[in-house]
Amino acid sequence: MNMTGSQIAIPTILKVGNGALEKIGAYMKGNGFEQAVIYFGNGLIEMFGYEVMESLKKEGVTVLEYRELDSVRMEDIIELAFSIDSKTQVIVGIGGGKVIDAAKYAAYLRKLPFLSVPTSSSSDGFSSASASLLVNGRRTSVPARMAYGIIVDTAVIRSAPVKFIYSGIGDMVAKITALYDWVYEDQNGYTELNDFAMMIAKKAVNSFVRTPFASIQDDLFLKELLDSLAMSGIANEIAGGSSPTSGSEHLISHALDKMLETPQLHGIQVGIATYIMSRVQDHRYKRVNTVFTQTGFWDYVETLDLNREDYEKAIDMAPSIKPHRHTYLHEEKYRELAKEILWEDEVLKRVFG
Ligand SMILES: [Zn+2]
Repeated sequence: MNMTGSQIAIPTILKVGNGALEKIGAYMKGNGFEQAVIYFGNGLIEMFGYEVMESLKKEGVTVLEYRELDSVRMEDIIELAFSIDSKTQVIVGIGGGKVIDAAKYAAYLRKLPFLSVPTSSSSDGFSSASASLLVNGRRTSVPARMAYGIIVDTAVIRSAPVKFIYSGIGDMVAKITALYDWVYEDQNGYTELNDFAMMIAKKAVNSFVRTPFASIQDDLFLKELLDSLAMSGIANEIAGGSSPTSGSEHLISHALDKMLETPQLHGIQVGIATYIMSRVQDHRYKRVNTVFTQTGFWDYVETLDLNREDYEKAIDMAPSIKPHRHTYLHEEKYRELAKEILWEDEVLKRVFG
């Protein structure tokens, strides 16, 4: 590391708001991008293709190639990346987590700027510097680069199924337990936390959990959610790793992903695990519960018919997911406590049914 100060990358374009998608051409032109390759998520050309193409045409931005992508296999992305036209100035990924990861990695391989255009709020992947790809059949987080630009149309986010909003809420509230794990690691000499990254991530989650709302589909609430997820991505960039946004609650979710045939959405699993871990840490669990109650997150979880045995196994498996870390779940006494809470907590009794 550079001892005189660290260099971090932050997105040059950050547009989060109602109607942002129809202005994508202007945002690109305004940043000097005139030759673009655009990847859409599965089925999304039909939904957003016309609007995006019209916006680009209006600004005279040439689309060298556009297509739908449905693979996150490393081999596929490498092949894709090296088929990209050499005139390309920017790669745009429009869609959910998969296409964002694939397009981000292709751009990274070709050293091209990447525009991240998430159409759902299911996780903070749209603002992270890493990509989750399939390597030898296993979902693996590989280093990539922070997006040059993030463009989020809150009208698009609102039109996605509401479970994606719940997933985003779960992934955002998770910063509460993730940060507490990070402090714990620091206090016990396992790592040295980065104060600035800590501050950014803390401000992001606090601003989010304190946002008043009538409905989770309110424009202000969605903007707050997406802005906060984007800020957390910056916190990771500053920290040079995912510790500010991903702690023991994420380990439980990653374990569930490995164990289950059909896991739930990332932020749904992470959110449930966040509540469990906030009780283990005995830190802000009332706040976590209030957010999940008021937003309807818990009501949604109740409809899923989840298995507590799965979560019990996931708690045991959690430390093996990231053996080099030392979260609360890396200690046996806290794993035991987590399992006890899983079976005895009144809120969890209700939502697991
Ligand atoms: Zn996450």
